[in-house]
Amino acid sequence: AVPTLAVVGRPNVGKSTLVNRIIGRREAVVEDVPGVTRDRVSYEANWSGRRFMVQDTGGWEPDAKGLQQSVARQAEQAMSTADAILLVVDAVVGATATDEAAARVLRRSKTPVILVANKVDDERTESEAAALWSLGLGEPRAVSATHGRGTGDLLDDVLAVL
Ligand code: GDP
Ligand code: MG
Repeated sequence: AVPTLAVVGRPNVGKSTLVNRIIGRREAVVEDVPGVTRDRVSYEANWSGRRFMVQDTGGWEPDAKGLQQSVARQAEQAMSTADAILLVVDAVVGATATDEAAARVLRRSKTPVILVANKVDDERTESEAAALWSLGLGEPRAVSATHGRGTGDLLDDVLAVL
C-alpha cells in the first residue's frame, strides 16, 4: 500500500499551506480564519519518484480546552493510522499550550515524528525555530510553507522515515 504522511498541529500554523506545498497543487483549503479544514483529508503526493498520501487535519473547538483535546486526539489518530507524522508549529508564535499537548502525545509515538517549525520566511526567524527544541521532539525543521523555504530538505527527511 501507499504510505501515509499525517500533518497535525493546532489551527492556523500553516498545515494546509504545507500540504499544498508538498502535493504541488492548491487543493487543501488555506484560510486566515482557523478551523476551515474538514476533519481529515488525504491527497496524493510524489517526491523523488516516491508516491505517498498526505493527510491534512483540521477541526475546530470553541474553547481552548476543547481545542487542546481535539489536537491531541488528531495526534493519537495519526499515531495509529499514519506511517510518519509532521507536527507543525508556528515558529513566530512559539510553542503554545496546545502545541505542548500535541507534543506530549507524540513523544511516545512509535510512528516517526518530525517537528516542523513553520513561518520561518527568512533567516531572522531561524532562532525562533531553534526555541522549539523545548518540545522534546528532536530538531525542529525550519520551513516556510508559503515560500517553499526548507521544504525540499524536509521532504528528503520525510522519505527517509516513510
Ligand atoms: P492551518 O489552519 O494550520 O491549516 O493553516 P493554513 O494553512 O490555513 O494557514 C493559516 C495562515 O497562515 C494563512 O493566512 C497562511 O497564509 C499563513 N501561513 C501559512 N504558512 C505560512 C508561512 O510559511 N509563512 C507565513 N508568513 N504565513 C504562513
Ligand atoms: Mg487547514
